[in-house]
Amino acid sequence: MHFQWYPGHMTKARRMMQENIKLIDLIIELVDARIPLSSRNPDIDEMGRNKARLILLNKADLAAEKRNDEWVAYFREKGYSAVKVNSKKGGGIKSIQSVIQEACREKMERDRKKGILNRPVRAMVAGIPNVGKSTFINALAGKACAKTGNKPGVTKGKQWIRLNKSVELLDTPGILWPKFEDQQAALKLAFIGSIKDEILQTEELAAELVKYLDREYAGVIGEKYGVESSEDPYERLRAIAESRHCLVRGNELDTEKAAALLLDDFRNGRLGRITLESPEEFAEK
Ligand code: GDP
Repeated sequence: MHFQWYPGHMTKARRMMQENIKLIDLIIELVDARIPLSSRNPDIDEMGRNKARLILLNKADLAAEKRNDEWVAYFREKGYSAVKVNSKKGGGIKSIQSVIQEACREKMERDRKKGILNRPVRAMVAGIPNVGKSTFINALAGKACAKTGNKPGVTKGKQWIRLNKSVELLDTPGILWPKFEDQQAALKLAFIGSIKDEILQTEELAAELVKYLDREYAGVIGEKYGVESSEDPYERLRAIAESRHCLVRGNELDTEKAAALLLDDFRNGRLGRITLESPEEFAEK
């Protein structure tokens, strides 16, 4: 699901977040493990002041394992609870309930001191489009959990999913807007397919990805497509077009098609597990 973001969308998303945040104790923020910082929205820290915080590195199956561990350590260092998950296959989901309890321990402790007993912790999932919010909620709540909101004949209003006797989850996730003002972040968001490819043409985008991969994951492209190395990323795209028989009008190389193929392979993990940023890069900034 891709959608264009206009200032109006952002204002609406922000308003929804602010309303829902009032109702909850814990924000479960999903980030994409391949770009943990570029897929965050910095406004969440301001909006989520005084709330318990849990960061999930989702799609961890697509990201480099070593980087996943570095990023978990990075976020923990900053005071968040953090774990890596694969919502699609359910990896890491089982332990989430105890992680949620742990993230809310202080809050429960405060409640207990005030004599508030047995009030369930209320949580909300939030993140940018396509990060895996719905997939995560389904994995956590299980398929048995029926959605009852916004259907004809059903009372409108907030729906809570009861995870166990001490945790309830808001069934509609909070949508955060991606960081398109930051050019580097926007490029990475486009690589993973989270914002429309429009900021760059497909070939331009693929050429940028080639440059990145040849620098940071040398050998990956050569191995996948059986092509010689070259300094020129467009030459690389032509080589991929050749090796994959991407042709137009019978014999001309279709580099546009090769570009789309490369992006698709990358996005679906067919180039292996690749992370596009490391905590180290951000440490200096
Ligand atoms: P939302 O817009 O944040 O609700 O994102 P969705 O839940 O619709 O997920 C977007 C896409 O990412 C879907 O194609 C999911 O199957 C996929 N996805 C979600 N979680 C994971 C994950 O952990 N690993 C992988 N490989 N794909 C995932």
